[in-house]
Amino acid sequence: TNLIEIRGVTHAYRTKTGPLQVLDDLTISVPEGEFCAVVGPSGCGKSTLTRLVAGLMKPDTGAVWLHGERVTSPRKTVGMAFQNPVMLEWRTILENVMLPLEIVAPRMPRADREARALHLLEMVGLMGFEGKRPSQLSGGMRQRASLCRAIVHKPDVLIMDEPFGALDAFTREDLWQTMRDLRAAEPFTCVLITHDLRESVFLGDQVIVLSGRPARLQYVLNVDLPA
Ligand code: ADP
Ligand code: ADP
Repeated sequence: TNLIEIRGVTHAYRTKTGPLQVLDDLTISVPEGEFCAVVGPSGCGKSTLTRLVAGLMKPDTGAVWLHGERVTSPRKTVGMAFQNPVMLEWRTILENVMLPLEIVAPRMPRADREARALHLLEMVGLMGFEGKRPSQLSGGMRQRASLCRAIVHKPDVLIMDEPFGALDAFTREDLWQTMRDLRAAEPFTCVLITHDLRESVFLGDQVIVLSGRPARLQYVLNVDLPA
């Protein structure tokens, strides 16, 4: 079954100079557990697409379904990661990663929240850094922590908007492997927005190529590479 169904989505922003159409009749299906990478030129509407899937915005026409339910408002079952992770400097890395659990599972005992967050930090190679403040970590480490934060509450979907875009090439490729390790440990459905074709093919089961303004579906690549 498809976890995400985007059907006939068209969207325009209202601007001073008139409507700016960014998505044109877009239809995409993402099966449960699949990794969907979306590539397309800057400004074509990729971030807009993530906001629609997360329920932060409504499309003009068409609709988005998650688990067969129409998305009309923000979801707790969606995790998000961005190019520049916003972390709370007055909290430790561990406390930052625990944050979504405090919101989604307020009655969960603190010890359990900590154990869950520590387990993820260990998987991404941040054991020993849990007591540090965000500014004490490198960009790559902060991005690892932000991935942990995005999945700590086991969302149905992890949406990533250029998560590795600000990292140097070596760090980026390390993060690709971390991403694969995380998904091997606990399967979750992913939508990744990226400019990097290699990244999209390395990580994606399905690569959606958008082009034009407004963005239309150009083609869908089904990637089947050895792990
Ligand atoms: P991408 O992520 O592919 O770079 P975006 O979805 O961020 O594209 O933006 C698509 C187009 O819509 C861009 O031209 C951008 O300037 C414009 N845009 C994005 N958000 C808004 C907004 N809130 N109001 C008006 N225009 C916007
Ligand atoms: P880009 O689309 O260029 O990668 P960012 O990822 O930095 O841009 O941010 C996209 C939008 O999401 C911005 O409006 C930003 O304020 C917001 N944002 C960034 N990080 C978070 C976060 N952790 N939680 C909620 N909103 C965020």
